[in-house]
Amino acid sequence: MEEEKKLPRNVFVLALIAFLFLFIYSVFFALPLTNTFFPEGLEITSYKILNDYYGRLLITREIKTKENGDWYYYIDVDTLHSGLIETSRIKNKTNIRPKSPLSEILAFQKERLTPYGNFSEKHSAASPKNIVLTSDLCPTSKEYDRLFYESIAEHQTNISLLVFFSGRWIARHPQYLKEIKEKGLALVAGNHTDHHIILTNRITKEDFISEITNTEKIMLENGILPSCFFRFPALVYKKEYMEALDQLNLIAVNANAWMGTKAKNWSVLLVHSNGCASSEVRVFKKFLDRAFEEKNQPDFVFQDIFAYFQNFLKESSSTN
Ligand SMILES: [Zn+2]
Repeated sequence: MEEEKKLPRNVFVLALIAFLFLFIYSVFFALPLTNTFFPEGLEITSYKILNDYYGRLLITREIKTKENGDWYYYIDVDTLHSGLIETSRIKNKTNIRPKSPLSEILAFQKERLTPYGNFSEKHSAASPKNIVLTSDLCPTSKEYDRLFYESIAEHQTNISLLVFFSGRWIARHPQYLKEIKEKGLALVAGNHTDHHIILTNRITKEDFISEITNTEKIMLENGILPSCFFRFPALVYKKEYMEALDQLNLIAVNANAWMGTKAKNWSVLLVHSNGCASSEVRVFKKFLDRAFEEKNQPDFVFQDIFAYFQNFLKESSSTN
């Protein structure tokens, strides 16, 4: 008798489990994936560079995985946001490049062969000044600067952050990566190459491309969605590498402000957080504390990298 009574409840529990499974499956695997961090565990078996369009999506990579299906990595040409979408959901791609904010930004980069964020593009003066906060995780065996991420989490309102990951840093520090993910920051993930080779003439264009795509694979396998933003190791670049970025549909972002320097409007501020510049991080914490604790409004606002490019397009169209 006891067994019979339990049965309906077991059926209910099984149905609930099945529902939850389908729900989780649909949330993580059926919809386009656009969060910077997602569950890790993808095993990539094939990775291809593409250049196809599907509406406002520029599809730049095809990713095949062992157990989690086949995906396209795309960039939204209007917003510059990126995502992953299952290949089965995309029909009738084209290779006609529509004029879009992304195509303009890439065209300007191709014409000058110089990264953005070094004041070679024009920005008008403004008050408060707009600042884009960025950080680099260059390879190192050192403990990362927890304080950097903790200070941002403490004052989180309006602080967006663009972090450039190197492949070797991710591979070496899974625990630190987990801690950063758990902070729930407004973080966009950029690419800082795998081995962080300073690009004087030492590697071929093909090796440079592998440095980038290997990092993308490491990011994806570790639950990090790459954005379309790239930073050269030690900010050293050469024209041939800039040309390779065009092939990959990546936008190079330099830095032009550091702790202790005077920032202009639309500065790209760089604070290292890999543990090799702890004094920089301590000054940064003081800077944040002062700015957010004063009764007066701080004379700057943190903007995300997407706002930076929206402003760039606005200003360049108004001067033409
Ligand atoms: Zn670096």
